[in-house]
Amino acid sequence: MTTAVTEDFPKRCGLVAIVGRPNVGKSTLMNHLLGQKISITSRKPQTTRHRVHGILTREHYQLVFADTPGIHRQHDKAINRYMNEAARSALGGVDVVCFMVDALKWTEADEYVLSLLPKDGTPVMLLINKIDQVEDKQRLLPHIEALTARFSFDEVVPVSALQAKNLETLEKLLSSKVPTGDFWFDEDQVTDRNLRFMAAEIVREKIIRQLGQEVPHQVAVEIELWEEGPGLTEIAAAILVERKGQKKILIGEAGSRIKQIGMDARKDIEALIDQKVMLKLWVKVKTGWSDSDRALRSLGYDDPVIFK
Ligand code: GDP
Ligand code: MG
Repeated sequence: MTTAVTEDFPKRCGLVAIVGRPNVGKSTLMNHLLGQKISITSRKPQTTRHRVHGILTREHYQLVFADTPGIHRQHDKAINRYMNEAARSALGGVDVVCFMVDALKWTEADEYVLSLLPKDGTPVMLLINKIDQVEDKQRLLPHIEALTARFSFDEVVPVSALQAKNLETLEKLLSSKVPTGDFWFDEDQVTDRNLRFMAAEIVREKIIRQLGQEVPHQVAVEIELWEEGPGLTEIAAAILVERKGQKKILIGEAGSRIKQIGMDARKDIEALIDQKVMLKLWVKVKTGWSDSDRALRSLGYDDPVIFK
């Protein structure tokens, strides 16, 4: 008798949206699930502006993640409208939704995201994040009970995105919920966003890390030059701000701040593209850009990344 060595496992592949109010830990979760840095994170809300697809491929399944922008209740500015639309469209046509909340904190913004969750039968999982901050796990129970009374979640998964706790369980659950089917992406691809985009996001992250509250989030980064030479990639990026005063702050005393931002960003970009980088940054004042639809379009903020 011989044993047939056949591949009886059908492959599974699907789109997973991670939603939740700004700062609950969505980007951190995706980075840890994917084991490398795809989406930028910071302590300030609104760090993630674009949809980024992270791709996790294992032998039998491929999970494609949409790291959605924050959902904002104010619709007055073009940038907020864009971010809301992107977040809403991220909820349509996905195979699984992960609704992430903070282990102990509940705000109006969470309430708003809860109201947007699909009620069309799409599986929705409740992720209770930051459990590392809760010593007595009993304290989680009333929160979980209150939430499960309000929405019929498929699963409730307590995690710590930061400490990568319980992420294997989460991955297994996700893989069981996406449909059977062929992989959409090559097995070694981790994101469908190109390197330029990721480099611009790295620069933006360093600005936010350096300046915190001093400069609001109306800062955009445009890659103006990208030249790959032998052993060195030359990159020039413009940092667009809204006011002259912001430009001064960004540059800092004798250029000290912009230098630090550039040095930190260069290191990360070198790690990203695995090559030496020469990075040039300059700051441009572009009055009112965040309130102009046309300016947003020219920066690629309107690209209607409808997936599938
Ligand atoms: P996003 O706006 O939802 O994408 O949130 P981020 O991923 O940018 O995270 C916001 C902040 O929360 C960062 O300072 C993270 O380090 C922190 N954070 C994320 N996950 C956890 C966690 O599991 N535990 C703790 N203690 N902090 C976390
Ligand atoms: Mg984020």
